[in-house]
Amino acid sequence: MAQFEGKTVLVIGGSRGIGAAIVKRFAQEGAKVAFTYAGSADAAAALAGQTGATAIRSDAADRAALTATVREAGKLDVLVVAAGALVIGDPLEIDPDAVDHLIDLNVRAPYHASVEAARRMEDGGRIIIIGSVNGDRMPFAGGAAYALSKSALQGMARGLARDFGPRGITVNVIQPGPVDTDMNPADGPMAEGMHSFMALKRHGTAEEIAGMAAYVAGPEAAFITGSLLTIDGGFGA
Ligand code: NDP
Repeated sequence: MAQFEGKTVLVIGGSRGIGAAIVKRFAQEGAKVAFTYAGSADAAAALAGQTGATAIRSDAADRAALTATVREAGKLDVLVVAAGALVIGDPLEIDPDAVDHLIDLNVRAPYHASVEAARRMEDGGRIIIIGSVNGDRMPFAGGAAYALSKSALQGMARGLARDFGPRGITVNVIQPGPVDTDMNPADGPMAEGMHSFMALKRHGTAEEIAGMAAYVAGPEAAFITGSLLTIDGGFGA
């Protein structure tokens, strides 16, 4: 279980949920891991203590802070962008500032973090963005802003895969379906409705998503790039 010994990994948005599971997985497999967070200082400190990873307070929605953090992380082997926001509701009623913040965090941050990381990244490096199956399918009302942000990542990955391919750097989007985190609890009000049309009638776990991230970052995945890797229990099937 030490396939990432000697590798340097930065996870943007790693204090909780899917990002935290990814931090744990890479740390368990021997990587030197740093992660960012914005608000959850206690969770970040606990995770750092548990894993030996370095916690960095840095708002991913602030481009200058984000790019400085990525620059200071130095030569990365793996960048994972997991930070994200969910805004659900009637588009006629939603606060437009919340929509702009969602776009800052879900679209602008992955783009700028990826480009900044690639400036110094080792040849053969890996850029992994956590998108969503909602980039492919938005089966209920109220999710337009979230879906647009996750669809945008698809074009981004395809384009950056071409830009960084000559250096063997891969760029991929992992597209989870419902995953049991604070953002989307397995016992939340929308859970039953989502399970009703999924092939597997449950939420996924953050550890399942971390397993896919470890695979994409590992040596067997060097030929996967510009891809949308869906792990959704059949949400989009
Ligand atoms: P959570 O809300 O559980 O965790 C979000 C993480 O992102 C936290 O660590 C949070 O840190 C961090 N974060 C939020 N805002 C910022 C910011 N401005 N700067 C830095 N870090 C920030 O979400 P999930 O783990 O569920 O989601 C992770 C990703 O997976 C998101 O992109 C989400 O869209 C995607 N996803 C989630 C699904 C789900 O069902 N859960 C399904 C499909 C995709 P802090 O609290 O410290 O601010």
